[in-house]
Amino acid sequence: MLIIGVGNTAMDCCRTSLRLGAKSVKVMARKPRGFFKASEWELEDAEEENVEIVVNHAPKAFVVEGGRLKGMTFEQLEYDMEGGEIRGQRVLGEVFVPCDDVILAIGQENAFPWVERDLGIEFDRWDVPKVDPVTFESTRPGVFFGGDAAFGPKNIIWAVEHGHQAAISIHKHCCGEPLTARLPRGVNLQSRKVGMNEWSYKNDYDAAARRLVPHVSLKERFRKLNIEVELGFDADRAAEEVGRCLNCDIQTVFHASLCIECDACIDICPTDCLTITANGEEADVVARLKAPRRNPDQPLFVSEPLKQTARIMVKDEDLCVHCGLCAERCPTDAWDMQKSWIEIPHAEDEAPCPSVTRTLRRA
Ligand code: SF4
Ligand code: SF4
Repeated sequence: MLIIGVGNTAMDCCRTSLRLGAKSVKVMARKPRGFFKASEWELEDAEEENVEIVVNHAPKAFVVEGGRLKGMTFEQLEYDMEGGEIRGQRVLGEVFVPCDDVILAIGQENAFPWVERDLGIEFDRWDVPKVDPVTFESTRPGVFFGGDAAFGPKNIIWAVEHGHQAAISIHKHCCGEPLTARLPRGVNLQSRKVGMNEWSYKNDYDAAARRLVPHVSLKERFRKLNIEVELGFDADRAAEEVGRCLNCDIQTVFHASLCIECDACIDICPTDCLTITANGEEADVVARLKAPRRNPDQPLFVSEPLKQTARIMVKDEDLCVHCGLCAERCPTDAWDMQKSWIEIPHAEDEAPCPSVTRTLRRA
């Protein structure tokens, strides 16, 4: 059995094939592993079940003899890589891989045969409707699209958000209001301090690695189609895993005017992500950080000049584990741990249409 494609659907296909009696299953991937669309844990689970994932093989042809599928030919590819990107490719040769069955798991295409092309809805070269990325309105006023149909493969979370945004637009369209007049997004912060050194969230830092979810044994899991492979955590193990949460909704908030530059937070920080240093060019400041910067794409937090020496407090958020030790140790409350809420307006936050309000009042 060959599965063409290496997304999460391909992982479902290969594992289901084994459960339906396939003896040997190969997943054929055109690119190297770093470019697979499947989640790493899905790949691991498939490989645990002895599915072979063959990289750098581009499908070329089905080989049929006497009306029966004998296998497929593939071009063996080699890639030129630079900085994690593919810069070029060449064909090394052609190989024949025998098989009885092939499942194509290479995604789906949009199909809009039911949309007449003279309605004023324009489509791009991928046959996807042209959609405004803010209002989700197509080129025909009052017709809206979202999800994969409008933007290509994303995930269900994006599709739901597109639905929310399109709902706002539809409401405005029905009210005769401009679709682009959106309510602003907002962020709220509130201190989590509930005592001298206490926070209303669990902030013990547990450096333990992620525990793997226990699985049904390899022998057992193929007995029936409806056996759930992942057993889940028991209550104690689940509590331990929850304790590893890095509380990314709790932010370290710094008040430069309160800092007396005692260095206590610098000394206590378990990840060395705080540095007090002279201001300067970014490359120069980065060279003076207490811990090397791991993610240059993430901006550093840089404070206002501190009162006593005009130096700056620098924080590398990429390294912070939100343990709150800096805020606990700080004698002046210059650091605080604050919970953040992101407010994204939805259709329910919109005012009713004025015409509807008038109608209701009359009634
Ligand atoms: S919350 Fe913890 S890891 Fe983050 S800056 Fe403060 S002490 Fe360092
Ligand atoms: S512990 Fe507080 S006062 Fe001391 S250096 Fe850090 S932020 Fe400033």
